Amino acid sequence: MLIKKDKDIIASYLEDYSNLKGGFAEAVAIPETESEIINLLKEASRKKTPVTISGAGTGVTGGRIPFGGIVLSLEKFNKIISIEKHGARGRAVIQAGVPLEDFLNEAEKNGLFYPPDSTEKSAFIGANVATGASGARTFKFGAVRDYVRRLRIILSSGNIVDIKRGKIFADKKGILEIPLTSGGTIKVNIPAYKMPDTKNAAGYYSKPGMDAIDFFIGQDGTLGVITEVELNLLNKPDGIFDCYAFFANDEDCLQFIYEAKKAMDAMSLEYFDENSLSLIRSKHPEIPKDIKTACFFEQITTEDNEDKLIADWTSLMEKHKVNLDKTWFGQTKKERDRFHDFRHDVPDTVNEIIKKTNRIKVGTDIAVPDEKLDEMLSFYKASLANSGIDYLIFGHIGNSHLHVNMLPKDETKQNKAGDIYMQFVKKAIILGGTVTAEHGIGKIKHDYLKLMYGEGGIAEMVNLKKALDPACILGLDNIFPKELLA
Ligand SMILES: Cc1cc2nc3c(=O)[nH]c(=O)nc-3n(C[C@H](O)[C@H](O)[C@H](O)COP(=O)(O)OP(=O)(O)OC[C@H]3O[C@@H](n4cnc5c(N)ncnc54)[C@H](O)[C@@H]3O)c2cc1C
Repeated sequence: MLIKKDKDIIASYLEDYSNLKGGFAEAVAIPETESEIINLLKEASRKKTPVTISGAGTGVTGGRIPFGGIVLSLEKFNKIISIEKHGARGRAVIQAGVPLEDFLNEAEKNGLFYPPDSTEKSAFIGANVATGASGARTFKFGAVRDYVRRLRIILSSGNIVDIKRGKIFADKKGILEIPLTSGGTIKVNIPAYKMPDTKNAAGYYSKPGMDAIDFFIGQDGTLGVITEVELNLLNKPDGIFDCYAFFANDEDCLQFIYEAKKAMDAMSLEYFDENSLSLIRSKHPEIPKDIKTACFFEQITTEDNEDKLIADWTSLMEKHKVNLDKTWFGQTKKERDRFHDFRHDVPDTVNEIIKKTNRIKVGTDIAVPDEKLDEMLSFYKASLANSGIDYLIFGHIGNSHLHVNMLPKDETKQNKAGDIYMQFVKKAIILGGTVTAEHGIGKIKHDYLKLMYGEGGIAEMVNLKKALDPACILGLDNIFPKELLA
């Protein structure tokens, strides 16, 4: 195991895309074997040394940023152990530190397809599981959670949990017995709060009769170290076409999206407001000049239905006043990769600005029930219109999950942005939504989670954590303040 104590090396593990400052650690441990992790955790439990698990550091909530203790990096757990095809499906066993990009490429080489692509390709697969990630294609295919078949996790006690989906469920009293590979079980009470029906990554998963594996998905590095992940895959589609439809006004764009959501079978449906397009115009002078908003969609095709699908989308675009001459259409991998890079440039550019201005990220990850999307979007726009704060709205509109990013220029505006964010959170909760649909709570969204589930809900999460991490050393300050563990 490598132990790094060099200040500069440690510094590179003290940041992520939240831009949360002030992190510190004694050392970074980079294990290469499971037994090294077990020994490290046993020792840390004995000495009560905090351990913060690190993936690639692309998180946006400060989850991997340590405030004391040691960093445990999974970067050497980077092997794809197997990828196999089974009829119309596939299965892969991979170590937690494999970057998403490597896995997607390997799946493709094997004629397979991993739909919940969380767009930031350098993120590690284990961290995708730990944050409860999802992506644009979650609209048709669900989130990472839906593809997790088995997880191998090392608890802070050094015990191993190797758990398959569909084997262990909570009983009628809400008790779950989590088996350890060494024999015996750990009994936990599942929290009683009700999760929203939207996409959701807020706090620990809990549902009556839930599968034990679901606790460990979206746990934000607080319950155990995920070392190995087994994922379900689909067969690679025959064809995919991607399209950017540009609109002269926002209303046409939204009506197009609402109709597409009902009438078509898109793989993803993404929205970009006027400010999102303005933000990347200098990088992309090819964006048509006289347009305001855009919708990006992806469609799976077969040889038999491709022509009809292209015709159906074309007539839907024409109906909603899209100028087809200015529409971007791509079918080859090269074209589609370029379209994806274009989409990714929006959050990337936001992150660059945040870094330059040295401010903590003020970006929402709220999702609401589909029937409430219009109300939420109108609320966003009305609250921001005269705020004097630069902002942009983009993202996974297919799942009624938009990211509102505010870019305050000074301290006063930063505080105001925080107040506006809180109003958004309150509204979303009233509408039956979630405060975080894919990024998780990390260290910067505790207050929002408390509003969502109340103090009682947080207390249940604290108890759950204590049952699985009795030394209370893992991922401190993620999900809820560490003081609650005292
Ligand atoms: C430009 C950009 C776009 C993004 N788009 C999306 C998107 O569309 N969808 C989405 O979901 N996210 C998105 N993200 C956020 C980010 O990529 C995800 O949260 C990702 O899952 C983080 O992976 P990571 O390897 O960088 O993890 P890190 O940031 O290193 O860690 C994230 C959390 O996971 C925990 N963790 C890491 N590895 C493990 C492990 N093996 N066991 C237990 N806990 C662990 C850490 O302790 C931490 O709490 C985006 C980020 C950027 C910068």
